[in-house]
Amino acid sequence: MIVVLNPQATEEQIQHIVEKVSKLGLRANISRGTERTVIGLIGPEDVLRVTPLEVFPGVEQVIPVLAPYKLVSREFKKENSIVKINNKIKIGGPKIIMMAGPCAVESRDGLYNIAVEVKKAGATILRGGAFKPRTSPYEFQGLGEEGLKYLKEVGEKLDLAVATEVVDPRHVELVSKYADIFQIGARNMQNFSLLNEVGQTKKPVLLKRGISATIKEWLMSAEYILSKGNFDVILCERGIRTFETATRNTLDINAIPLVKQLSHLPVVVDPSHGTGRWGLVSGVSKAAVAAGCDGLIIEVHDNPEEALSDGTQSLIPENFANLMNDLEKVAQAVGRTMR
Ligand code: PEP
Ligand code: MN
Repeated sequence: MIVVLNPQATEEQIQHIVEKVSKLGLRANISRGTERTVIGLIGPEDVLRVTPLEVFPGVEQVIPVLAPYKLVSREFKKENSIVKINNKIKIGGPKIIMMAGPCAVESRDGLYNIAVEVKKAGATILRGGAFKPRTSPYEFQGLGEEGLKYLKEVGEKLDLAVATEVVDPRHVELVSKYADIFQIGARNMQNFSLLNEVGQTKKPVLLKRGISATIKEWLMSAEYILSKGNFDVILCERGIRTFETATRNTLDINAIPLVKQLSHLPVVVDPSHGTGRWGLVSGVSKAAVAAGCDGLIIEVHDNPEEALSDGTQSLIPENFANLMNDLEKVAQAVGRTMR
């Protein structure tokens, strides 16, 4: 249930409504927009049959939310949410935000060299996994805390924000010491204890779509995080598993405009995992920007042949820089900017 207040509603009237619904056992989430404030109510809404909120001063309209996700829905918040990273980078505004870096952090110097290149090309967020969720237990699992230290050090040195995956609820505090954005990987999209844990922090979360997740399931996972109080969620379309085996995954381009309709949260696209092939990354990135994404997360490696994970889908720095230039024109065509 969403309570839309009239533009003249006073703070006193808002608090009165919040107190009243809290007494009825409902939780109130206030969203203050530029034009008006809305209150999202979570809980057994039946109690409102005997206490219709329409009669409360300051209330303009009470709208039932039909979708199972409430706080992430467009009905709850009309304007696009802008997620701020370190009070500097804004995801969800006119600028397309570029996140780039290796799949996994392999060494301090290796990470530094790649970071210099992606920064030079225009990326503002450095990506890199320290805890890697690999399909095989025999493959490189990441450097763990050592990798997190390199990420923080390199990020600070080059003034890049850092995004890295957290795979275990017990690691949330540790990762939080080093990273600016928690990445929740596709394999963990429905790890509800992990979602609840990051939901209790104040750090932005990049929530990847699960390998076989429907859009509804993906948005419900985001709802877990928002319902715990963390509204700084960035959705990431990274391809889903289909019958097609020519590419690693099938990037669901439909998801971009659809999720922008259904939700106020920013949407970032990962063409590296979406395709699994570096030669397709540029084309799919352009399509994603044209379709309305708010950012891209791209794997870049200076020596993909020797990469410890995902070399086949990693761009070399030169190709990443070329992609940035190509995207400039697409962004302009759809009213966005790259820099
Ligand atoms: C990654 O970003 O390296 C990764 C493991 O992504 P995903 O969870 O989308 O597979
Ligand atoms: Mn990867």
